Amino acid sequence: MISKQPEEFDVVIAGAGMVGASLACLLENTPLRIALIDQLPVNSGEIFFDKAQPKFDPRVSAFTKASKQLFIELGVWQDIAGKRSCSYQDMQVWDAQGTGSIHFSAADINQTELGTIVENSIVTTALHAKLVKLENLQVLPPFTIEKLQQIRLNGEQFLQLESSAGDTLHTRLLVAADGANSKIRELANFATKEWDYNHQALVTTVRTEKAHSNTARQCFLQTGPLAFLPLSPEADSDDQHFCSIVWSMVPEKAEEVMALTDDQFKIQLALALEQELGAVEWVDQRFIFPLRQRHATDYVKDNIVLVGDAAHTIHPLAGQGVNLGLLDVKALAEELVRGIEAGREISDVTVLHRYQRQRIGHNLGMMWLMEGFKHLFAQQNLTARWLRNIGMNSVNNVSILKNQLARRAMGLD
Ligand SMILES: Cc1cc2nc3c(=O)[nH]c(=O)nc-3n(C[C@H](O)[C@H](O)[C@H](O)COP(=O)(O)OP(=O)(O)OC[C@H]3O[C@@H](n4cnc5c(N)ncnc54)[C@H](O)[C@@H]3O)c2cc1C
Repeated sequence: MISKQPEEFDVVIAGAGMVGASLACLLENTPLRIALIDQLPVNSGEIFFDKAQPKFDPRVSAFTKASKQLFIELGVWQDIAGKRSCSYQDMQVWDAQGTGSIHFSAADINQTELGTIVENSIVTTALHAKLVKLENLQVLPPFTIEKLQQIRLNGEQFLQLESSAGDTLHTRLLVAADGANSKIRELANFATKEWDYNHQALVTTVRTEKAHSNTARQCFLQTGPLAFLPLSPEADSDDQHFCSIVWSMVPEKAEEVMALTDDQFKIQLALALEQELGAVEWVDQRFIFPLRQRHATDYVKDNIVLVGDAAHTIHPLAGQGVNLGLLDVKALAEELVRGIEAGREISDVTVLHRYQRQRIGHNLGMMWLMEGFKHLFAQQNLTARWLRNIGMNSVNNVSILKNQLARRAMGLD
């Protein structure tokens, strides 16, 4: 039990994933009394690496320059990069059903890299190691939110949170960072627009015959996009043969591919990538994630704010989901600090709406772009295929347009 007498906080952040944990760190130097809760124990332990036999977290993210910069500002980037991360300087995107292709290069936009691939667990471990030391933050024992209730205490508005174990907390502001299936979003009746992509993402790690050369590859197959994201088995390693795979496909195809033996899967995967990296020599366990597009029509309701996947989930084809979530919490933290400096209440609606205004249009824009890509590449008729191949090759040849796309994807514009 957390406490018989409910504790009072200025802010409760629900969800200690990459987004919620980053927000907790961003609010470090504020006078706010903050609690971080999660249904699982917040783990600040070390990750164990067996150098002889690298084992990767199947969940990885491609972080933009803007996200990396945030981790640098939070003082956790050294910890992340010291474990392992893999920056990539080039990205190749092509249409498996035609001749269209685009090659993005960091050098073309005067950058040293286009992005960095890091396992999600490495990021959360680094953030958790920092936040357990923060003076204004209490990391509470596992707390699964079951019930929310608006109450008044001494004339002030509070939210009462109840856990499945019957523990209770009071807070002036609740930030929902509890992921795609947010219980808070559901309990507080936030409206959403959502639809099933009819795609599942198969995720695993492979070792390939040829080196990845720090290049991210994405191939649009008839069944959906297949990404090979470069990994590094340890910091400063020159072994360039590991890649993380995100292969999106219709559920029937996913079922078929999951049923293949490892040897059959390795052959199919190498063929799907047109053997760009030669044979697939080793494959780890395969996992499936259902993909659903969802966007809350508002991010703010009374004293509750949605951030990250609780506010929006997006197809992983452009690797933007968590990057958008990190931009959300950066904007929210800035607005909360501005509000405090101006003497406003922590749940002041003007302050919270300033956050919503900054983020909602940007997130929606990215979601529609991804939706457009998904539909464009799902088209099978000859005219659409011809047009998209012409389109891709045209973009590839117009460097201003191509570089603008690259800068947007990196979070620079
Ligand atoms: C296959 C795949 C590949 C992806 N690749 C990329 C990529 O390359 N780049 C990118 O930017 N994004 C990528 N994404 C998206 C990215 O993984 C998500 O956007 C990101 O993980 C969301 O982070 P979050 O902190 O908002 O939510 P989550 O990581 O889901 O964290 C939510 C937290 O809330 C806790 N929680 C849940 N319910 C409760 C409750 N009732 N009470 C208390 N706690 C609760 C959970 O335990 C968890 O710790 C990918 C997604 C998928 C599926």
